[in-house]
Amino acid sequence: MKSKSIAIIGGGPSGCALAILLKRAGHKVAVLYLEKRPEIIVGESLVPAVIPMLKALGVEDEVKSYSTFKPGASVWLSKDEETTSPFSAGQGKIDPYAYNVPRIKFDKTIFNKAKSEGVVFFEHLAKIEKTGNSDELKLANETIEFCKDFFNGQPEWIVDCTGRTRTIARLLDIPVKTGKRKDVALFAHLSGAEKIDPCNIHLHRLHKGWSWRIPLPERTSVGVVINPSHLPEYGKTIEEQYDNYLKADDTLCRLTANAKRETNVVKYSNYQLISERFYGKNWVLTGDAGGFLDPIFSTGLFLALKGAFRLAKAINEEDLTPAALKKYEKEQKWELQVWQRVVDTWYNGRLFTLFRVGQDRMHTPFGKFIAPHMVKYLTRIFTGEAVYTRYSRYFLRFVTGSLIDLMKLERLHNRDVKDLQVN
Ligand SMILES: Cc1cc2nc3c(=O)[nH]c(=O)nc-3n(C[C@H](O)[C@H](O)[C@H](O)COP(=O)(O)OP(=O)(O)OC[C@H]3O[C@@H](n4cnc5c(N)ncnc54)[C@H](O)[C@@H]3O)c2cc1C
Repeated sequence: MKSKSIAIIGGGPSGCALAILLKRAGHKVAVLYLEKRPEIIVGESLVPAVIPMLKALGVEDEVKSYSTFKPGASVWLSKDEETTSPFSAGQGKIDPYAYNVPRIKFDKTIFNKAKSEGVVFFEHLAKIEKTGNSDELKLANETIEFCKDFFNGQPEWIVDCTGRTRTIARLLDIPVKTGKRKDVALFAHLSGAEKIDPCNIHLHRLHKGWSWRIPLPERTSVGVVINPSHLPEYGKTIEEQYDNYLKADDTLCRLTANAKRETNVVKYSNYQLISERFYGKNWVLTGDAGGFLDPIFSTGLFLALKGAFRLAKAINEEDLTPAALKKYEKEQKWELQVWQRVVDTWYNGRLFTLFRVGQDRMHTPFGKFIAPHMVKYLTRIFTGEAVYTRYSRYFLRFVTGSLIDLMKLERLHNRDVKDLQVN
């Protein structure tokens, strides 16, 4: 493998993880980053499949020291119907736990690890320009000057890890595939909300949209995901909208009755987007900069880190040949599309219908036969372990599709889809 000079733009988890892996392999790598970040950042609940990557980066112990231990996930179908899945029910190969992480600290941990391994950082809003040659990019002069000629001119490669800013994709106007949902998320940290024990993430299907409750040490992160057309009913500012929504919704009102909001409310829009291209002549996209999905199953950091690991492999082991880049792009797109189908089962109501149908049929011979298998395989999908195996994907499609129909529950299903689809 030939050592390369590589500029990574963006010092979030994907940028810093990639920098660590490239530095270890002997590349000349620098990260251009922005120190100033919002008071709170989404992306606080991890899935178990992240853990092997935290171990490989050498940061798990530090992350564990300030996070809550997350043994599973709980879904509330309505205000009285909760179903809890411990990750151990997957009986898979990966460790059956994850963490709920204060994001600012989590990002800092990976950043500091990269620094301790000798990665060079420049605190600078990086500017990228077209060169006039087709598809070739360069760092603007002011950015090169800021880096004190670290790259001896231009870097050989520029990697965009700027998250949803999508610096290169916007510069080149790369077409994107967007999802059907146009939701927004409002979120804040609360103290005094109802305690969650054990520290599972709680997902609530609400009358309008859905919400998350993520137990962090001393605080609970509460986010509501909703179609923006509903928001004006709750007030003019995002603070009013958030506070009033919590009061107006039966479930959230009960769970946050004694809570105090400790932070500003932060709003995220711009959901579900996959770039049509992930690389060009001297540039590559990874993490959210290449694509992101609706956050319902907490896959963001998993996919962002996995993208960084995949790209590191393409650089370190496959020398970024055209074939390696093509393969990288194909795998990134495929993975996002596979997860998108999993996400769809939440919004189209099929996952909830399956749960209801399962409850109804649990005591029949067929129910007894399939239930343990279903628990095992669905858990493996949501831990992030098994979504890649063909069997798991087909199984999910079967149980949220033909199985419901096969059980001759069209009538129930039709009623449920109408009732249970997330509005
Ligand atoms: C509502 C919502 C809820 C979510 N919940 C979860 C969850 O529970 N679990 C989960 O795993 N994921 C979740 N995610 C997704 C997760 O936050 C992202 O997938 C993750 O942050 C992506 O990491 P990244 O490194 O690619 O990008 P980012 O974390 O966005 O980092 C990009 C960095 O680039 C910097 N930057 C941008 N432009 C420049 C520039 N020109 N020069 C220098 N630096 C620049 C930014 O300051 C930033 O630090 C959620 C997302 C949303 C929207």
